Amino acid sequence: MHQQMDMAAPPEPTSRAVTAAETTDERWTPNTVLKTLTEQPITGSTSPVPFFHLLERLKTNKREGWRRFRIENGESIADHMYRMSIITLFCPPALAARLDLSRCTRMALVHDMAESLVGDITPVDGVPKPEKSRREAETMDYLCGPLLGRVGGGLAGADMRALWQEYEDSKTPESHFVHDVDKLELLLQMVEYERAHQGRVDLGEFSYVATRIVLPELKAWAAEILAERERFWAAANRTPSGLEDISVQHKAQSKEYYEGSGAAVASDEKTMAVASGEK
Ligand code: ZN
Repeated sequence: MHQQMDMAAPPEPTSRAVTAAETTDERWTPNTVLKTLTEQPITGSTSPVPFFHLLERLKTNKREGWRRFRIENGESIADHMYRMSIITLFCPPALAARLDLSRCTRMALVHDMAESLVGDITPVDGVPKPEKSRREAETMDYLCGPLLGRVGGGLAGADMRALWQEYEDSKTPESHFVHDVDKLELLLQMVEYERAHQGRVDLGEFSYVATRIVLPELKAWAAEILAERERFWAAANRTPSGLEDISVQHKAQSKEYYEGSGAAVASDEKTMAVASGEK
């Protein structure tokens, strides 16, 4: 017998990543957030401990996309990066042969680190992508400079800064792989939340990211996850929302956000067009 299912409430128009003060703040800097902390991180230290403490925020800050759907005790930013890192370890051999895989794992661990101060700004929050990128770059400069610049000669900090930039620029094969893993991790979580909420939450809006996955190996995993989703909703005698229900505006917003700002986006599009037989 099927569980009685209520109609899902519509998602909230924006997440809570950005407070009204931050949206109107003339010029956001890491200090906009730092000055609100009860404990100010010690800068210029030769110890990494102040940085380790700041990282706690990745464990306590929730991924905002889910909160719009009233999933309150959802995953943290650290949760998301942890599973991504593990997924990189399972890179199929033919693809792994073309990649520096340990670089990919480290990139997965670092790519959303700036959200420790910036928060998880999502496509619906009204912060333009260039402004989001500026805030994140300034946060990484703060973490890797004032906080880590004197730790171990600043080498580990400089390495993290370079990894973050490589992901952001999205021009190398390693960064393309990690961008695909980022989307795959989101699809896994989407299906898991729908199951956990026994069909009371329809997260079909997020299925759009599957269309933006580029590498064939990752596309295959995404197709497997979406097939699981179809089976789940079919068993519940319900038709969930899917690609056709997502507005053109939301697709455009998401496209800008889920991809890096590098030139690779254009070449990825060409690859996809070829793959799907488009001209
Ligand atoms: Zn991510």
